[in-house]
Amino acid sequence: MPHGTDLPARYAVFGHPISHSLSPAIHRLFGAQCGIALEYVAIDAPPVSFEADARRFLADAHGANVSLPHKAAAFALADERSAAAIRAGSANVLTRRPDGRLAADNTDGSGLVRDLTERQQCPLQGCRVLLLGAGGAARGVAWELLDAGVAELTIVNRTADTAAALVGALGVTRARARYWQDLAELGSFDLIVHATSAGVLGQPLPLPHGLADAQTVGYDLSYGHGAQSFLRWARAAGARAACDGLGMLVEQAADAFALWHGRRPATDPVYARLRAEQ
Ligand code: NAP
Repeated sequence: MPHGTDLPARYAVFGHPISHSLSPAIHRLFGAQCGIALEYVAIDAPPVSFEADARRFLADAHGANVSLPHKAAAFALADERSAAAIRAGSANVLTRRPDGRLAADNTDGSGLVRDLTERQQCPLQGCRVLLLGAGGAARGVAWELLDAGVAELTIVNRTADTAAALVGALGVTRARARYWQDLAELGSFDLIVHATSAGVLGQPLPLPHGLADAQTVGYDLSYGHGAQSFLRWARAAGARAACDGLGMLVEQAADAFALWHGRRPATDPVYARLRAEQ
């Protein structure tokens, strides 16, 4: 059995809301591909009961993914934390160790970098990147973008202090914060990562067309309906590619699967299947 225990192979994704989640389908497809029998369910947990709900589930399960709005709470409840989780200050993966301790990890950043470099033909070395947003997802991906060798990471957030705090935590001169009202003066970027929740919330996100040119890749961390407004903007601004976060979702799930099962599944067949169903 996984992790040397005799527990059933049970997994879940926690969120609020969570009924839309593709994670159960993704992990079941990975399990079928790898010949690993597993049970994976979606659990809707309001913030007030998340910690108790997660502890109850993990008392006799192997692991859980964690989605909005519980990533910071998942990080806080863990007994041990990976370097990626510590840098992000949040966790999207909880793993129950054989001794019952809970380990927190964050695979969002590695998922984004793998999707960009291996699926979207967007090499990051030397790239000038604009990161829109400084919330949990932005914190999860910023360090990985720097580790992947981007030349410049400009972070712009509606609340300017949060972008400045993230840049301070990153602690490198390649990262800088700019004001939202100055976006029109920043010129164009090789990659624009949209990491705000404006699209998902159905709120307008006015962006100047000058941020993109024929070399630019526009990437929205969201997928489905929530990504459409940014993707329309990127195409209208002349970007060479406009990508949603479906590939990132599949890649971060594969990294979680590898943590739990010691084996990384092939992601392309699962990505192709989900894309066909979009
Ligand atoms: P979060 O922690 O709640 O942060 C939300 C961010 O959006 C903040 O920077 C916030 O700015 C900004 N924002 C919200 N409404 C805005 C508006 N109307 N105009 C401008 N900025 C606005 O959320 P998160 O965890 O970072 O998630 C962000 C998005 O990433 C979500 O849509 C989520 O679905 C997506 N995501 C995708 C994946 C994947 O695997 N594909 C993984 C993680 C996250 P303030 O600081 O000013 O409030």
